[in-house]
Amino acid sequence: MQLLDGTSCSQEIRQEIAEQVKTITKNGDRPPHLAAVLVGSDGASQNYVAWKVKDCEEVGFASTTIRMNESTTEDELLAKIDELNTDENIDGFIVQLPLPAHIDENKIILAIDAKKDVDGFCPENIGNLCLGLPTFISATPNGIMELLRRYNIETKGKNCVVLGRSNIVGTPMAILMSRNTNPGNATVTLAHSRTENLTELCASADILIVAIGKTEFVTAEMVKEGAVVIDVGQTRVTDASKKSGFRNVGDVDFDNVKEKCSFISYTNGGVGPMTRASLLQNTLKAHQRR
Ligand code: NAP
Repeated sequence: MQLLDGTSCSQEIRQEIAEQVKTITKNGDRPPHLAAVLVGSDGASQNYVAWKVKDCEEVGFASTTIRMNESTTEDELLAKIDELNTDENIDGFIVQLPLPAHIDENKIILAIDAKKDVDGFCPENIGNLCLGLPTFISATPNGIMELLRRYNIETKGKNCVVLGRSNIVGTPMAILMSRNTNPGNATVTLAHSRTENLTELCASADILIVAIGKTEFVTAEMVKEGAVVIDVGQTRVTDASKKSGFRNVGDVDFDNVKEKCSFISYTNGGVGPMTRASLLQNTLKAHQRR
């Protein structure tokens, strides 16, 4: 079994990006600039945005965090998005999800200019992804593709099961794995909560990508001998022994599954750091495309 080390892969990507930023600024241009809009005070969202700012600093990007109160109205947020869409000093921006319940997330995503949608969530970017046209691929599936690429994992002709069909992970992941690319060219099944015979289906997968948010859901009997298993899940569970008071638990029962796998990613240090690196790649791309 080989562990898919997202931390070291993402470090490589950051170094590559930092080199490109040096060239950009040496040539007299301003560095790429990412903005993040944070509405409310959700603890996990605050952490995610803080990491994004730190990542920007590390590679030499500029970053701006826009904090808005929990009571921000939909119209106020839409007005802020309008401002960011037209601000020439900002190459790309994200609106950290989830939003407070009184704000319609779809309406917000639809308002973001596709050219600045570095999260790759808006219909134009998802449509381009389906057609294989230049786009911003949403960060988590893009990070997983990069992990497969950097570990030279053969995907062509393989049976790939993607478990979970969210708009931000499972669905774009299934599209990417089925496209005529490398990695890609897999025969993909997109499974979800209504899928029948899930154990047998997962056990038939050469590549199993799990993004459901159910702790340790995938057990050893659901995994084929020699399979590649990618665990996207990250659920916070209370843990008094940790300084933070919690730990992240994945969707895969790692300890019991790992010995059956040729490659496996662990919830910590696997997909998460690759997701962060992908957002930087998208921001650099947005800067290049201006
Ligand atoms: P989501 O929007 O919560 O959707 C969950 C998906 O899993 C749905 O399609 C649901 O099916 C399916 N599902 C739920 N229970 C299931 C079951 N028992 N059997 C089969 N399918 C089931 O998910 P998400 O936003 O993609 O997040 C999934 C997990 O990935 C979470 O733990 C999240 O924190 C993590 N995540 C990690 C990263 C990272 O960078 N590491 C990034 C994004 C997400 P239905 O559609 O039928 O309801």
